[in-house]
Amino acid sequence: MLQLTELKKAYGSNLVLRGVSLTVAAGRAVALIGPSGSGKSSLLRCINYLETPDAGTVEVDGELIGQVRRRDKLAPAGEALLRRQRAQIGMVFQQYNLFPHMTALENIVEAPIAVRNLKRGEARDEAMALLEKVGLAEKATAYPASLSGGQQQRVAIVRALAMRPKLMLFDEATAALDPELVGEVLKVMRSLAEEGMTMVVVTHEMEFAAHVADEVVFMDGGVVLEQGPPDEILRQPRHHRTRRFLRRLN
Ligand code: ATP
Ligand code: MG
Repeated sequence: MLQLTELKKAYGSNLVLRGVSLTVAAGRAVALIGPSGSGKSSLLRCINYLETPDAGTVEVDGELIGQVRRRDKLAPAGEALLRRQRAQIGMVFQQYNLFPHMTALENIVEAPIAVRNLKRGEARDEAMALLEKVGLAEKATAYPASLSGGQQQRVAIVRALAMRPKLMLFDEATAALDPELVGEVLKVMRSLAEEGMTMVVVTHEMEFAAHVADEVVFMDGGVVLEQGPPDEILRQPRHHRTRRFLRRLN
């Protein structure tokens, strides 16, 4: 479903991705862990071409993202194609970035109306069904400022899901939340994983990595150092840098 091949990215002389290859099968949830500055966010941003990789390819369901093949050469995709491709990849950030002047429901229906060409009524019905699922149906007409951080983040997740993405990317979605609000957001992420959404989740929540992820990927210094089942990577890491990283968390 998601295939990254030799992705490279530098900011000036700072090589932040040094050739990352990764495959995520359909329906699998991958937890991406690693020290600060190891390139986790850069990798997510390259997957949906919020950042343009310097080299390598991203494929979702066999379709090249951000690039087109012309006579065996790769060229940058046009804006329209890129917009369409991005719409298939949901992303949830640490900061929820809801529009403050719109209700929860309005935040959610905006993109499906504009990009999926849904009628307002259809978009509202879908949005309400999703809000119901995350336990926020009664907050549909609330403005972001009147919602807790956990509620805002659940709205942000619904906003991403309303685009019917093939793939969801989470970048420390719970890191900005008060500890007592983390659980409600993780619960939503967990049920998404259980429903078979393909997900890449950057997280410091080792419980989530251990119990929800199908696979854990450890990044350090812009490369994937090791990956495997949570039990293996979290309990018997092969690499000393993984061991050191996990020790520091405990
Ligand atoms: P954290 O756990 O702190 O979020 P991370 O693994 O997500 O870290 P990245 O944010 O991908 O790490 O950053 C990797 C490196 O790239 C860092 O050295 C960072 O300073 C640099 N970097 C990230 N974004 C930019 C940018 N827009 N311009 C310049 N340098 C950047
Ligand atoms: Mg980051």
